[in-house]
Amino acid sequence: MIIVLLGPPGAGKGTQGERLAARLGVPKIATGDVLRAAVRDGTPLGLEAKAAMDRGDLVPDAVIMGIMKEALAAPSAARGAILDGVVRTTPQADGLAETLQALGKPVDAVLLFEIDEDELVRRLSGRTTCDACQRPFFGRAPGETCAESGQVGTLVRRKDDEPEAIRKRMQVYRDQTAPVIDWYATRGTNMVRIDAIGSLDEVEARMLAALRIQ
Ligand code: AMP
Repeated sequence: MIIVLLGPPGAGKGTQGERLAARLGVPKIATGDVLRAAVRDGTPLGLEAKAAMDRGDLVPDAVIMGIMKEALAAPSAARGAILDGVVRTTPQADGLAETLQALGKPVDAVLLFEIDEDELVRRLSGRTTCDACQRPFFGRAPGETCAESGQVGTLVRRKDDEPEAIRKRMQVYRDQTAPVIDWYATRGTNMVRIDAIGSLDEVEARMLAALRIQ
C-alpha cells in the first residue's frame, strides 16, 4: 500500500504518518528526515542540501528522486510505504509515478492535510525537534533531552523553523507543492482531505476513518 501525504509544513504529516505506518506495518519514508540525518552526518548529500534547507527552499528534484527510488526499492518497503513530504513538485510526482510503475505498485491514496496558515505559523514557531529521532515537540525548550525512541537525543530548534524560513516554506508550498494536488486530481487518484486542526488523536481518528481503517 502506497500512501502519499500532502500538506503544508507543520500540518502534522510526520506525526500522523508515523502513526499510520505503525498501524499498517509499513515504513514511513520522509525525505526531510533523510536529508536532516545527512546534514548532521556531514555526508555529500547533506553538504549539497544544507543551504537550501536552512533557507526554507526545496532541494533539487534529482536529489529527491535518488532518495525516493532507493527507499522504495528497499526490502522493508516491499509491502508499501507512507510517503511524508516526498512529493513537493510536479516533476517529483512524475518521478514517483515512474518509479512506482516500475515496481508495479500504484498510489492507493493521497492524504491532503488541510490547515490555515496562522495555525501553521503558531505551531512551527513553537516547535523543537529531537536531533536523534526527529520527533517534534511543542512547549519544550531547546537543549532538553528526548529519550522517546530508545536513543538519547537533544531538542533543537530547526533552522527552518525560524520566522523568515517559515514564511519562505509557506510560499514554496503555495507555488511549488500546491500544484501537486491538481496533478493527482486530474489523474483520478483517490484523494482524501483531512481537517488537520485538533488533537493528535482527533486527527488520527479522522485519517483512519477516511481510509476506512478500523
Ligand atoms: P520537512 O522535514 O519535510 O519539512 O523537510 C525539510 C526540508 O527538506 C524542506 O524544507 C526542503 O528543504 C527539504 N525537502 C524535504 N523533502 C523535499 C522534497 N520532496 N523536495 C524538495 N525538498 C525537500
